[in-house]
Amino acid sequence: MLDKRKGSRLPGFYNLSLEARWKALEDWLTAADLEAFRESAGLSLEGADHMIENVVGLHALPLGLALNFVVNGRDVLVPMAIEEPSVVAGASFMARLARAGGGFTAQATPPEMIGQMQVLDLADLPAARSALLAQKEILLGEAAGIDPLLQRLGGGPRDLEVRLIETSPIGPFLVLHLIYDVRDAMGANAVNTAVERLAPRVEAITGGRVHLRILSNLADRRLVSARCTIPLSELAFGGYSPEEVRDGIIAAWAFAAVDPYRAATHNKGIMNGVDAVVIATGNDWRAIEAGAHAFAARDGRYTSLSTWSRDADGNLTGALEMPMAVGIVGGATRVHPSAQVALRLMGVRTASELAEIIVSVGLAQNLAALRALATEGIQRGHMGLHARQVAIAAGAQGEQIERLAEQLVREQLVRIDRAEEILRSWQTGSEG
Ligand code: NAD
Repeated sequence: MLDKRKGSRLPGFYNLSLEARWKALEDWLTAADLEAFRESAGLSLEGADHMIENVVGLHALPLGLALNFVVNGRDVLVPMAIEEPSVVAGASFMARLARAGGGFTAQATPPEMIGQMQVLDLADLPAARSALLAQKEILLGEAAGIDPLLQRLGGGPRDLEVRLIETSPIGPFLVLHLIYDVRDAMGANAVNTAVERLAPRVEAITGGRVHLRILSNLADRRLVSARCTIPLSELAFGGYSPEEVRDGIIAAWAFAAVDPYRAATHNKGIMNGVDAVVIATGNDWRAIEAGAHAFAARDGRYTSLSTWSRDADGNLTGALEMPMAVGIVGGATRVHPSAQVALRLMGVRTASELAEIIVSVGLAQNLAALRALATEGIQRGHMGLHARQVAIAAGAQGEQIERLAEQLVREQLVRIDRAEEILRSWQTGSEG
């Protein structure tokens, strides 16, 4: 029997029926909350019609729960919305290994976003820059009045920076960065409003013309770092010694650290975990993707977002640092019913807490991929679940799905043409 006192450790959860899983969640969620998970993510067509334009339907994704996570000493069940098989299982399994080493410790910097203003038509750029910096306190004071609610919550403008772009296809120009603490919001609307409102004052000070006024998704002042230690003894599996697995993971990471072709795939694995939680909580995953990859290339060459090494005791340690501009208010987080339930399930009270969980999941997902790649290869673990999708795509229904998937794996021919062939043979009674 599942027991809430066991925290996020729910052995056997994957073997339960859907009904039994919902029943198990009754300790965490109300009946109304569970209803949102059950029925098309709780989002009605009418609700969707208010969210975007030209609505003609809903697009559903599977929502799974990653188990075993301990983040900053707290057990947490992590909702993940994703269509790719193996991701939820991989995160849960690696969280179990990390749990043996105390779980994940994660830390977020203050939620500061950057709003950009592009200032054109300036005769003397250094003079305009000096004038802006001289008026910094006045500009910050004006920015502070733009969002009284945010200000009251302890957010608002923090700093102002002026960058001189010496050469560009249109010649030199100035860029002003407004550093803005957005508290528990993702912050795009809040920041965009602030830079738009401040633009006339910037024009008056510089005599130039403010062209673009928009948030930067390279949220490199809103970083989260997560770490974990996997005890060496947890790393052995199959015929592989723990040292082989540990050193294999470190060698795999080294490849991503120096080679952008590998780093892109390595980071994609991290984003498998990150995006799934970002989507489940109604956050803007394009913003997170843009920030992650721009941050990965911050030194001029695209590299791994994570690092893996061994500690003095021979254990495996991992760390992941990346921008994480997510909110628990604003955007779709408050509008999408199952996003609300996802946030309640995790019990997060601030956007930073959510960000810390997300980056921990990214690190777990990274470990899942590296562990598989460094040993038996990625396909073996993938194949069972992939085979089910292939079986469904080929037209299998009900009990046929499992049976067909098993046969495809047994034959090591997980291909749609073979799946269709087997199905046809079953229909004509010639095989199987
Ligand atoms: P928002 O404007 O809906 O919510 C933020 C506002 O909520 C704040 O300005 C504040 O007034 C209020 N608020 C109440 N309680 C708060 C709290 N505890 N902490 C902070 N603010 C609180 O949303 P947003 O987060 O500013 O913008 C997010 C949306 O903007 C997303 O939907 C995103 O897709 C979209 N967007 C993104 C981009 C981009 O990434 N480049 C550009 C434009 C829009």
